[in-house]
Amino acid sequence: MISNNSNHRVLAMLIALATYTFAFGAPESAHMFEGQDDEQPDAVCGRDCITGITAGIVGLNLRTPVCASPEFIRKIVLPPPPPSAQWSGPENCVNGTCIFSNVVQNGGISLITSPQHADIIKSYDIDADGGAYPPPFYTEQIEGKGIGLRANRSIVKGEVLMTRGATLIAQTEALIEWEVAVRDTMYDAAMARLPKGRRDAFLAQMGRDVHDKINKNSFQFFIHGAGEERARHLAAYPDIAKFNHDCRPNVHYRITDATITTIAARDIQRGEELAISYTDIFLPSKQRKERIQNWGFECACALCQGPKNETIASDKRLRRIEKLKADLNNFKEIKVTAETGAEYATLHEEEGLHAHLGSAYTRAALNFALFGDEERSREYAWRAAEELSIEKGPESGDAQAMRELAENPRAHWTWGKRRTLKK
Ligand SMILES: [Zn+2]
Repeated sequence: MISNNSNHRVLAMLIALATYTFAFGAPESAHMFEGQDDEQPDAVCGRDCITGITAGIVGLNLRTPVCASPEFIRKIVLPPPPPSAQWSGPENCVNGTCIFSNVVQNGGISLITSPQHADIIKSYDIDADGGAYPPPFYTEQIEGKGIGLRANRSIVKGEVLMTRGATLIAQTEALIEWEVAVRDTMYDAAMARLPKGRRDAFLAQMGRDVHDKINKNSFQFFIHGAGEERARHLAAYPDIAKFNHDCRPNVHYRITDATITTIAARDIQRGEELAISYTDIFLPSKQRKERIQNWGFECACALCQGPKNETIASDKRLRRIEKLKADLNNFKEIKVTAETGAEYATLHEEEGLHAHLGSAYTRAALNFALFGDEERSREYAWRAAEELSIEKGPESGDAQAMRELAENPRAHWTWGKRRTLKK
C-alpha cells in the first residue's frame, strides 16, 4: 500500500513537472549532482537536464524530452518523508489518553493510548503486509465456524505465513475505565482517522460494533514487553483474525513491536485448516470450552469434538504436565530425576502442543544440566533453540541462551547443581 501511494505521488508530480517545464522552461539547477556520471548529457537539455527516457524509468513515458535539473527531478522522485514523520495527535484526549494516527505507516494506523506509550509505538518499524507469497492459503467459509483459512499447498514447519502491522492499538485499561459513551466517541475518532481500506477491513471483522469487534478479534500485547498494567494494549490485525481457533493449533503467532508474525507450528498438509489458539491451551477441556464460549461459539476443534476417552487422556496429560512443571521449578527439595524434564517434553509432543515445545525442551535441557548430564543437556538445548527460533524469533534472548547452553553445558550456571544434592 505504501509503495502504491508513493508511485501515485511520483506520477502526479511528474505530470505537474511536465506541465511546468512546457509552460515555463526548465527551472534553474543548483548543480548539486555534478560529477555523477550515471546519466549522459542530453543533446537538447545539457548535462543538468533529464529527458523523457529518465522520466520513463520512474513510470512516465514522455514523448517529448522534458528538461529539468537533476536536483529538481530528484526532489520529485525522492521517497516521501518516512512514515514516522507523518503522525498526527495527540487529539481528543480524555484523562491523558488520546488519539494518534498515521495514514501512511502500515497503510494506516490509529492509536488510543497515552502520549508516553504513543511515543514508543511511533518508534516501532510497524510492518505492512508481508509473509509467504503467493499466500499458501485461501479464505473459505468453513462449516460451523464462519470464515477461515485453508492451506492450498503443503506447508513446512517454521514457514512464515503472514506478517501484519496493527491497524488499531488501544490501551486496555483506558477502555475498561471509560463510560460507554466516552469509549464509543474515542472509537469513532480513531476509526475516522483510518484510511478507508484499513477501516473497511477492520469493520469487516466479526462483532456487533467497534467495541465488540475489538473484544472478539484483538490480540493482547505489552508495550516493550513490560508487565505494568498500563502497558497492556489490544491490537487489531483484521487479516490475522481470519484464523479460527483450535485447542491444538497448527499455527503459532508472536507479536514484536506491534507487528504480528504467524508461523507454521508443525508441518501442515494441503487442505488442512490453519488455526491459532484464542486461549490458554494448557487449561483442562472444560475450562477451555467455557473460555471459547466467550467468543460466542462452541469449540469445534478435533480435540473438543473427538471421542470422550481422548479428552480424558488429554486432561490427564495436562495435569501431569502441570505437576512436573511445579516439580521442575522446585529448588527447595528434589522431586525430580534427570529424566523428568524429558518426560515433561514428551508429554508436550504427545499432546500436540507444538507452539510450546521450545519452553518444554528448555526445561528438559536445564534439568539435564542440573544433574550434570552433558550429552542430554546439549541435545535438548539444541532442540529448544530450534523451537524457540520459531516461537520467539531466531534473535530472541531465549533462543540465544539455549544455543549457549548447547555449546557448553559445563559452563552454565545450572551445571551439576542437582547432582550433588540427595533427597
Ligand atoms: Zn477445542
